Amino acid sequence: MRKYSLRTKLSLSYIAVVLISVLPISIITNLLLDKHFKEYIIENQEQKNIEIVFQVKQQYKSDSEWDMAAIGNICINALKQGMIIKVMDSSEKIIWDARSHDNELCEQMLAHIEKNMSSRYPNWEGRYVEKIYPITNNLNKVGKVIIGYYGPYYFNDSDLAFINTINRLLVGVGVFSLVLSFLFGSFMARKLSTPISRVITTAQMISKGYFADRLTEPSGTKEIAQLTETINNLAETLENQEVLRKRLTADVAHELRTPLATLQSHMEAMIDGIWKPDIERLKSCHEEIIRINRLVGDIEKLAKYESENIILTRTNFDIFELTKHIIQNFENDFTNKNITLELSGENETINADKDKISQVIVNLLSNALKYTQPGGAVQVEIKGKGNGTKTNDTVEIVVKDTGTGIPPEDLPYIFERFYRADKSRNRLTGGSGIGLTITKAIVDAHKGKIEVKSKVGEGTEFIVSLPKGLG
Ligand code: ADP
Repeated sequence: MRKYSLRTKLSLSYIAVVLISVLPISIITNLLLDKHFKEYIIENQEQKNIEIVFQVKQQYKSDSEWDMAAIGNICINALKQGMIIKVMDSSEKIIWDARSHDNELCEQMLAHIEKNMSSRYPNWEGRYVEKIYPITNNLNKVGKVIIGYYGPYYFNDSDLAFINTINRLLVGVGVFSLVLSFLFGSFMARKLSTPISRVITTAQMISKGYFADRLTEPSGTKEIAQLTETINNLAETLENQEVLRKRLTADVAHELRTPLATLQSHMEAMIDGIWKPDIERLKSCHEEIIRINRLVGDIEKLAKYESENIILTRTNFDIFELTKHIIQNFENDFTNKNITLELSGENETINADKDKISQVIVNLLSNALKYTQPGGAVQVEIKGKGNGTKTNDTVEIVVKDTGTGIPPEDLPYIFERFYRADKSRNRLTGGSGIGLTITKAIVDAHKGKIEVKSKVGEGTEFIVSLPKGLG
């Protein structure tokens, strides 16, 4: 399919709109004008006739006396307007006859009118008509006026000039509207196509992997502004993903390199006979293997939870009781680290995957334990949130600690794979950075949401909202 630019299309559509509106208006105006003008001319002709008859009548003196000079003037004037006049007295004697006076002028006049009319109406079929008007004086007929002209109507020079002026005006307005619409169309098209072209260029750059480009020029058009925003968001998401992907590869490599290097040096030392392969050294090698294994296990687990469709095995259970049970298992660890752990709230039944929800609570609690210093406190609360309709009821699991807190610049990323705010990867505190990724995947699968509020040095609060799913 042939593709046209937005600019061409808009300009053409503007011109089409003008043509569609101006052409019919011009044609209709022309037709109406013609019709009314003809009516006006016919009516006017009758008026003119009556006026001439009246003027001729004024020239009747008495006893069949006529002012010949005045009648001559009236009739010559009428001839100039295309009327051939004959005046007779009561005994049919000719008082004035335009043809006898100047037949050549009469013929010229008629030929001129014929030419005028045929120029405007090629199929004009006017007929020469004569109308007879009696002249009376004190109710006595004293004569008659015969007026001959092209009937039923004809246009003289000024009538024709008027009609032509109107037509020229209509054509002028049409051409002016066309030029204006073309200019306006081009202007609008440029206004629309320039930002779109900019979006295209940026999108092309993004598709080539240059994610740093952003569209900065604001647009007054709603859709273009949305498009610009979407492209900017897309660029940002891709840029973040790119950073995370690089980081993920670096992280996995780093995680694997340390235990592998230790293992390699220990093995080489034993093979070269520098170290004796005693229990202590073999145990140390074994620990490194366990670490590698755990990491691979984590990656596997992540793949399972991150796959699009987590299969949920839903049952009805009491989330408060479940949390209480998990807390009991954690109590020792918390006591050993001298951190207080409290549970509050009420019994709430939900329909969810019990094992996976346990995983969520375990992940949040083990993080709270990991990132809280001895002497700190962790509070867990279960809150039911009903908003009237049973189906929309939710339950909140809040885990709040007084630990290290998370720097604001790390907060948007903590749910990403292998992301750890503690970039030094302190093995004593940090895990592999997938706990929260799995937690979020489980919450998302339950159509819930997870929020985090944190202040460095004060603590962190995780709020998990889950639909009760009982409706
Ligand atoms: P990790 O195994 O490293 O704990 P997570 O995915 O569970 O991985 O957490 C990601 C990062 O979020 C952690 O490395 C840590 O920096 C930060 N984080 C998570 N929970 C807490 C918390 N309760 N207090 C402070 N930092 C936290």
